[in-house]
Amino acid sequence: NLPLSEVDPDIANLITDELGRQRDTLEMIASENFAPRAVLEAQGSVLTNKYAEGYPGRRYYGGCEFVDQVEDLARDRVKELFGAKYANVQPHSGASANAAALAAMINPGDTMLGLSLAHGGHLTHGMKLNFSGKLYNVAAYEVEPDTFRIDMDKLREQALAVRPQVIVAGWSAYPRQLDFEAFRSIADEVGALLWTDMAHFAGLVAAGKHPNPVPYSDVVTSTVHKTLAGPRSGLILTNDLEMFKKINSNVFPGQQGGPLMHAIAGKAVAFKIAASEEFAERQERVLSGAQILAERLNASDVAEAGVSVLTGGTDVHLVLVDLRNSKLDGKQGEDLLHEIGITVNRNAVPFDPRPPMTTSGLRIGTPALATRGFGDAEFTEVADIIATALKDGENADVAALRARVDKLAADFPLYPGLEEW
Ligand code: PLP
Repeated sequence: NLPLSEVDPDIANLITDELGRQRDTLEMIASENFAPRAVLEAQGSVLTNKYAEGYPGRRYYGGCEFVDQVEDLARDRVKELFGAKYANVQPHSGASANAAALAAMINPGDTMLGLSLAHGGHLTHGMKLNFSGKLYNVAAYEVEPDTFRIDMDKLREQALAVRPQVIVAGWSAYPRQLDFEAFRSIADEVGALLWTDMAHFAGLVAAGKHPNPVPYSDVVTSTVHKTLAGPRSGLILTNDLEMFKKINSNVFPGQQGGPLMHAIAGKAVAFKIAASEEFAERQERVLSGAQILAERLNASDVAEAGVSVLTGGTDVHLVLVDLRNSKLDGKQGEDLLHEIGITVNRNAVPFDPRPPMTTSGLRIGTPALATRGFGDAEFTEVADIIATALKDGENADVAALRARVDKLAADFPLYPGLEEW
């Protein structure tokens, strides 16, 4: 029972280094967050030792009396949180939730219609190298070249032409809310199932700050580690009992063997926290921070440098920066912000003239900093730091900007009191 630092100092030191990086920099990758200490504890627990193939009350292993209660709590809490009748909390990740959900909904060779990867969709929504693109016949819809938004009338026309078996609502990089009612009506008109992947905005939904796709969708999937701030993992919801049975058998034994009970415990904790007032207040800061960022990046001094915000703003937790007219490409923008201590990811903009490894965009999100305690004043400061860096480009005063980042990081300590992990 020796501690990690003695058994494997190499790994222990790297974990300490990573904790230092997270503490000393400002995390603005839109899909990341800081899981609370309680979630980290649940994930680092002895539940990792337990095999529990099957579902609560119907396991293929003995000794499941406690993990059954853990999984029941996780399922009950997530159903309550999103107002769903049925939940499967076993998927190891968002991608595995999506694989099982698709397998429950359609057969190989059937047609799915999802947002193109290049326009903000996810790999699992039909990208050709992903299982989804290999197993299914994929038709992709796109955003409009002038508004960068999804046009629901055009989507309807495409759905009528393509006749998909499933329509996908959901995205990894899209700064606006989706019209779930319109998606439902198109799905009904063409006889398709509606699958919503709310991985990115689930935390906003949980807090009542974003429309809930559950009442409109046949199946809803999500990750737990983005706006929801839980362990890295996935989940599937439905209101339809027959669909629930298919989902269950497609998760286990369809896709997975033993569930990660330590991760499921972490999910249960995260769902409990996500139902709290404190969590709802935090999502307000997430949204307000994203709006502050969009406003600053839309200001005239930034516009003069060819930098703007896709769709002109945001109604969610992220901003998509358009660098098509800037001297900086996405890679250079990402590197420059990294140099001053702000972590973001470059992201292709729709109709991007630059290649995928370079891109002409940045995706910048506020969830992790809101978790750290940032409110409007701090988001105003961080927005100005980013705006100044992007407009000054290669002439940016890196040391001065880094000092401003350091101050924000020092003022909002991450995991205070945690000496090592
Ligand atoms: N779905 C969406 C919309 C996502 O953005 C992501 C991750 O970025 C996933 C699914 C996949 O989640 P994971 O990385 O846990 O497989």
